[in-house]
Amino acid sequence: MCSVCLRVIAAVLLFTGCSPAHKAADPEVPVTSAVPMDEFVKRVVGSTEDVWAQLFKSSGAHYLPPKVVLFTRSTRASCGIVSTATGPFYCPSDERVYLDPTFLSELPQRLGVHGNFAQAYLVVHEISHHVQHLSGTMQQLDSAASQGAERQRNQFRVRSELQADCYTGVWAFYQQKQNRLDPSDLEEVPAAVGLSDPSTYGAAAQRLRWFNHGLATGDPGQCDTFQVSRP
Ligand SMILES: [Zn+2]
Repeated sequence: MCSVCLRVIAAVLLFTGCSPAHKAADPEVPVTSAVPMDEFVKRVVGSTEDVWAQLFKSSGAHYLPPKVVLFTRSTRASCGIVSTATGPFYCPSDERVYLDPTFLSELPQRLGVHGNFAQAYLVVHEISHHVQHLSGTMQQLDSAASQGAERQRNQFRVRSELQADCYTGVWAFYQQKQNRLDPSDLEEVPAAVGLSDPSTYGAAAQRLRWFNHGLATGDPGQCDTFQVSRP
């Protein structure tokens, strides 16, 4: 078996919900402190679990976290082959987030940022797609994709991406509340959202606006990008 495969399996075991390694992050430790990338991802994912477990519980539901797969170069997901070029990726059919640690490590230099909040942003954005999957939004996207016209499909996809940005803002709200963020972290958000293709994700300004909406409200109920006429 190749070393990449072993690494992927080790990563799956490390990040499964039943592993003690996947317990919530220590509240004393900032999620974006300088640590090895696998540990960094684990802390960020742990912090999303804290937030979403609490929010799901408050609405009478139970949050089942996604598995996180760290891979090098490429790997096979239920949704198809995932490669470094794909960037961080959530596959709803196997409920896994796929991340290449090298992609994340190189991100600050690529974006010209000094901290690692942009890296955290990308991880949390993918976890946000899992939240959408648990809430049924991803299934609506599949249904729209199979039925709607091309233009409608694209609009639905953009709204879904903007909602993931808003959920990322909700996560940031709780990190801020626990003094885990500083203002320089938030300065990296424009670079993180500026990385993507506007035709799929929405314009950087839209993405930033929805992130800030989540950050200001801390309420996923305020992230209904599907109901507003112009998201
Ligand atoms: Zn996305």
